[in-house]
Amino acid sequence: MKYALLDRGDRLSRALSEEFQGLAAARGFMMNETSPDIVVSIGGDGTLLQAFHRFKNQLENVAFIGIHTGHLGFYADWKKDELSELLDLMVSSEPRKVQYPLLQVEILTSSGKIELLALNEFTLKSVDGTLVAALHINDEPFEMFRGDGIVISTPTGSTGYNKSLGGAVIHPSLEALQIAEMASINNRVYRTLGSSVILPKHHHCDIIPDPEKELFIGIDHEVMQMSEVRSITCRVAENKITFARYRPFPFWNRVREAFIGSE
Ligand code: NAP
Ligand code: MN
Repeated sequence: MKYALLDRGDRLSRALSEEFQGLAAARGFMMNETSPDIVVSIGGDGTLLQAFHRFKNQLENVAFIGIHTGHLGFYADWKKDELSELLDLMVSSEPRKVQYPLLQVEILTSSGKIELLALNEFTLKSVDGTLVAALHINDEPFEMFRGDGIVISTPTGSTGYNKSLGGAVIHPSLEALQIAEMASINNRVYRTLGSSVILPKHHHCDIIPDPEKELFIGIDHEVMQMSEVRSITCRVAENKITFARYRPFPFWNRVREAFIGSE
């Protein structure tokens, strides 16, 4: 088995990374940063987001495993004291391959088209002042948004930024995207639904901002600034991310442990 390893860079994550490499070598695993079968992320959910973006061009061939150096995470579901248990399972058993939906974002600017892929979400804000944008669903005008911003998330991203905005938590077996508002201003001219909206696969939404305005475009942990944006199209992506599950950890148990606590 060929594996790639990415750690958060703090002392604990680096130490665990070395421990993992030692245990892996003893079991005959090969490190391979260019065409791995398994991508191991050591740190937090944020580290797994980085690992995803490093290997997003070879999603068909890789499966991810996340090790958390703090509390349990949503993507990082192995704890720091479980490395040998994990590696023993990697030697002795076949993992269940679990796939989660991704978000495809297409941005049309005056200089061309940009395609992006998100594991958690796409975030849109205005650089100065409030964001003003029209939102269309399946090519029909839906609402005129005015407010702090719009967050469009995947099911596994629904427990991230989306949840802080009052969006629903969506089980990742549902192929869907969720549109959540950030502090919309509502009056007779600018009127939005207020609640978050969930679209199924094969539906899409377009955001049409004022092309004169500078925008902050966020994809997961990364933010970029863009100008002359004509439209932004979001839909459920055709490809998915694969996780190698060596033991079950149901999504609702992760939600309970992260937000409610286990008794
Ligand atoms: P960060 O500022 O360290 O992340 C914020 C927190 O979100 C961290 O505790 C992170 O966990 C957690 N997180 C990431 N993905 C999650 C998911 N799918 N479900 C539940 N929690 C999740 O930045 P980061 O680590 O680079 O993560 C970027 C993500 O942070 C974004 O994609 C967005 O979802 C989230 N975010 C949230 C807010 C908000 O809630 N107001 C604002 C900005 C961004 P770890 O500590 O394990 O990394
Ligand atoms: Mn983080």
